[in-house]
Amino acid sequence: MIKADLKTLTVHAAADMLSANEISSLELCNAYIERIEKVDSQVKAFLKLDKNDILKRAADADARRADGKELSPYDGIPIGIKDCIVTEKQTCSCASKLLENVVSPYDSTVVARLKAKGFIPAGRLNMDEFAMGSSCENSAFQKTANPWDLKRVPGGSSGGSAACVAAGEVPVSLGSDTGGSIRQPAAFCGVVGLKPTYGRVSRYGLVAFASSLDQIGPLSHDVLDSAIILDTIGGLDPKDSTSLPEPCTGFADALKDLEDKDLNGVKVGLPKEYFDTEGISEGVRKGLDDTIATLKKLGAEIVEVSLPHTKYAVSVYYVIATAEASANLARFDGVRYGVRKDGGDLIATYFKSRGEGFGDEVQRRILLGTYVLSSGYYDAYYLRAQKVRTLIRRDFEEAAKQCDILLTPVTTAPAFKFGAKSDPLQMYLSDIFTIALNLSGACGISLPAGISEANKIPVAIQFIAPALEEAKLFRIARIFELNRDQKEFAPEL
Ligand code: GLN
Repeated sequence: MIKADLKTLTVHAAADMLSANEISSLELCNAYIERIEKVDSQVKAFLKLDKNDILKRAADADARRADGKELSPYDGIPIGIKDCIVTEKQTCSCASKLLENVVSPYDSTVVARLKAKGFIPAGRLNMDEFAMGSSCENSAFQKTANPWDLKRVPGGSSGGSAACVAAGEVPVSLGSDTGGSIRQPAAFCGVVGLKPTYGRVSRYGLVAFASSLDQIGPLSHDVLDSAIILDTIGGLDPKDSTSLPEPCTGFADALKDLEDKDLNGVKVGLPKEYFDTEGISEGVRKGLDDTIATLKKLGAEIVEVSLPHTKYAVSVYYVIATAEASANLARFDGVRYGVRKDGGDLIATYFKSRGEGFGDEVQRRILLGTYVLSSGYYDAYYLRAQKVRTLIRRDFEEAAKQCDILLTPVTTAPAFKFGAKSDPLQMYLSDIFTIALNLSGACGISLPAGISEANKIPVAIQFIAPALEEAKLFRIARIFELNRDQKEFAPEL
């Protein structure tokens, strides 16, 4: 029997239990499956779950361990996968009717690398359709609920990936982040979400939304687990020409024994544009204030910095992301992938398949993207947005000269209720603090920082480091995590 509480059990703690023979992988996976059967009818994080496959892999892991041939300390630990990251012989719908029941013939690079270390891909996780959204309400199939308050959204687009970790249905999961889709749901559900540097993690086998922004990353209970997963999935991949050759290992090892370390000599920058914003809720503000107090107590120096082009980030993002999406989603034509709605002739079949297969938000983005790329408007919108993107990236590079790391909010307020942001523009604006990071290509992590007094749900903060500085990001985040007032975050559910 597993004595640990699944709602807070980390990958590293599970690995310790496995190596001490306190549990087997079969016991661990069975406990998680039982938990899923108990709570997922309410949380609805899973689109699909192949129990037999999980249990077979768990038995294989146990057999390897009994022979002293385990693939890694993590052999036999389950990991949830967002439904836009392909796993061989499993469905990959991107929560879209257009791809319903499509089965992948191959593994994405991240899943292949996880399997090579013995991790067990466990379940397909709900998301906003094609990763477009901030609440999971755009899924064509179901609305995932926030495990802290079932009337609230889990965030999005990786809402299923955040909710299943918070609810203790798996110890860790993968999401994807194009404009905040890992960090924002992590913030809403009280877990840790990492957006690695663009190019750190291969996108081979990730269904593309906006290729120059998309990045896969982990959602976990703590920073150490985040580092363990980045060590596993990151690094050069010949199948993705944008993946970076820099080594991507050793992050987790560098986080051992930080219990009594401080932050003397570390400069933390507060971008004034992120703090001037009106409408930051009381709970989020308190989370930021408490974080600043903890950082100061640890010896860090707090400095003000400026990211002057912040106000353009949302507009630039919605030009570039929709332009890329309109091109990427052109392949879903009812002929090559997924559902086909016969329209009589070829053109009518394209129209009918796309018209009925894609949801409203996806169609809105394709229209917007096609418009900004059209010959009369390309210079005025797309080209101009690319130029402003460069200015936004330079803002981060300039700020990095004045401090080691940035501290910002993740969202203006904690998780909102279903239906609260029915106006698409209001939903777009909710990503104001996460989007610029994707445009810059640098790395960031969102961490729980407290509980909002008003509604008893988590609030979070974001640390941002320059491109390829994950080691620094992890170290500061881990020291903060070990010293913040509240150590663990688990919903009652
Ligand atoms: N919410 C943003 C959008 O709808 C970001 C999504 C994402 O990061 N995948 O585009």
